Amino acid sequence: ATPTAVMVATGVGANNGVLIKGGDALERAQKVKYVILDKTGTLTQGKANVTAVKVFNGMGRGEFLKLVASAEASSEHPMARAIMDYARHFHFFEGSENQKDPNFGWLMEASEFCALPGRGVQCFVNGNQVLVGNRKLLIENGIEIPSHVENFLIELEDSAKTGILVACDRELVGVLGVADPLKREAAVVVEGLVKMGVKPVMVTGDNWRTARAVANEVGIHEVMAEVMPAGKAEAVKSFQKNGSTVAMVGDGINDSPALAAADVGMAIGAGTDIAIEAADYVLMRNNLEDIITAIDLSRKTFTRIR
Ligand code: ADP
Ligand code: MG
Repeated sequence: ATPTAVMVATGVGANNGVLIKGGDALERAQKVKYVILDKTGTLTQGKANVTAVKVFNGMGRGEFLKLVASAEASSEHPMARAIMDYARHFHFFEGSENQKDPNFGWLMEASEFCALPGRGVQCFVNGNQVLVGNRKLLIENGIEIPSHVENFLIELEDSAKTGILVACDRELVGVLGVADPLKREAAVVVEGLVKMGVKPVMVTGDNWRTARAVANEVGIHEVMAEVMPAGKAEAVKSFQKNGSTVAMVGDGINDSPALAAADVGMAIGAGTDIAIEAADYVLMRNNLEDIITAIDLSRKTFTRIR
């Protein structure tokens, strides 16, 4: 393609909300064999909702939610935002009368807050150690998950929800179920990629059961789950091994090493700045259809018509 053709294609991309950082990235996209898609915030809306709350130790629902929200207050994770919104709503609309005063400090102060990538959060609330996260987090802390809790987790996960465990002072106190709906266009885009001869793969830090349920819904057959942030870049490299051109689509901080490792990194425009910086493409409309637009644009620009 001539420099003019590249310039025109870059302009066409920009007009469609597809920002392309340079001619090399534009050229590589035509050869994409695999598109690795992050789950949370990429295939899904990243707007999670709490759909279930179970408290085990006799603690009141309001008290439990206040504890969890206090622990999650400093987290920027989509799960944390969902929990905060739900707890806030519960507190102000369903909580006891005296707590409806908006000036009432509804959160308790958390100290020594620590975000644990791929696991959850840890902190101290009122001098009690609080853990909020997945199985891995609890197991690492030597907290046992009884079978009735495990059964509840499985039930949530098989219906594409994420189970979030809460422990206080090394005792499991409750579980929340969180649902993050697929983006409306997700299934159509997956089908479109397959039709173009591109293989879609889902990668996520979430657990295997939830991952499989979401992948089923969206029509993806190849899944990698319980992947730690560094593991996402490894996943990209494993698909590049046989010389294939690999695109990665992601939105999170934990996607940025994989976006950088991919031949074509595509960041969701609504994603974190770090992901946008690491990517070659930015999909400004946050619409997955633009993955197809980007590959098409590259193919049309670089396929010589003889
Ligand atoms: P993803 O690849 O889906 O973006 P992450 O690596 O961010 O996933 O997180 C993996 C898992 O760790 C989540 O599915 C969740 O179970 C748990 N987790 C991470 N951060 C939090 C948090 N702030 N609160 C509760 N759970 C969390
Ligand atoms: Mg994500």
